[in-house]
Amino acid sequence: MTASVVITGASSGIGKAIAERLVADGALVTAGSRSPVELAGATWVATDVRSPTDCEALVTTAIETHGRVDVLINNAGVQVERTIDQTTDDEFDLVMDVNVRGVFNCCRAVIPHMRTHGSGSIINIGSVAGNVADHGLAVYNASKGAVHALTRSIATDHGRDGIRCNAVSPGWILTDMADAAFAAAEDPEAARAEATQAHPVGRMGRPSDVANLVAWLASDQADFVSGSLFTVDGGLTAQNPIGSASHG
Ligand code: NDP
Repeated sequence: MTASVVITGASSGIGKAIAERLVADGALVTAGSRSPVELAGATWVATDVRSPTDCEALVTTAIETHGRVDVLINNAGVQVERTIDQTTDDEFDLVMDVNVRGVFNCCRAVIPHMRTHGSGSIINIGSVAGNVADHGLAVYNASKGAVHALTRSIATDHGRDGIRCNAVSPGWILTDMADAAFAAAEDPEAARAEATQAHPVGRMGRPSDVANLVAWLASDQADFVSGSLFTVDGGLTAQNPIGSASHG
C-alpha cells in the first residue's frame, strides 16, 4: 500500500530532506508550511502550524486528495537564541506556539481520522535539546522537552486505536537553524569547528541522516515501536562531558 504522509515544515532543512526521501520511496506527500514546497510528487498546503484551522485544512486536504492519512510528521520548528532573562514574551509565545502548539494542533486534527482507520504513525521531530540543555536556548529546550512528553502521551493514550507515536531527537544538523545558532556565537567559525570536533563520528549531521530514521519509523518495519525517542547525533550526547582526549 502506498502511504499517505502529512509533513509540516518541508520548505527547508530537515523537513525538505524527509519529504524528498519519502517521495522517492513512493509515498503520497502533503506538505504544510508558510512558504511553498516545490517538490514533484508533493502537494503543498499553505499552513501556519500555530493555527488550528490551518492544521485541520492540511489534514483534510490530504484525506480529500489521497483518501487517508497514514503518517503525520511534525517537523516545523523555530529556535530563539536567548537565555530566560533575555527572552521577551513574544519570543516565548513564538517558540511554544510553533514547536508545541503546532504539534498539538496537527495531532488533534489527525488522531480522530487515524482512529477511524485503526492505524497511523505519528513522528515528532524533537531534539537532543529536550534531554540536555543547549546553551542559550532556554525556551527552545523547554519546547522540545514538551514535544517528547506529548510523544509519550500520544503513544500511551492512542496505542489501542492502532496509532504509534515516536520522536526523533536530532543533534547538530547542518541547516539554516544550525547556522543561526552558530551565527549567535562570539566567533561563529570557531564555534562551528569546536562543534564538529565534539562529535565522536567526526562530523555534524546532514538532513538526510534524520530522513533515514524517519523513513524507517514511518514504515511497517517499525510496527512494534511506539512511545520512544530516537537520538540522531553522531554520539554527541552519549559522552561524559568531563574529560576527552586524555582518555584513550
Ligand atoms: P529550518 O529553519 O531549516 O526549517 C524550519 C521549517 O519549519 C521550515 O520549513 C519552516 O517553513 C517551518 N516553520 C517554521 N515556522 C512555521 C510555522 N509557523 N508554520 C509552519 N511551518 C513553520 O530548520 P531545521 O530543518 O533545522 O529544523 C526542522 C526541525 O528539526 C525543527 O523542529 C527543529 O527544532 C528540529 N531540530 C533541528 C536541529 C538542527 O540542528 N538543525 C537539531 C534538533 C532539532 P516556513 O518558514 O516556510 O513556514
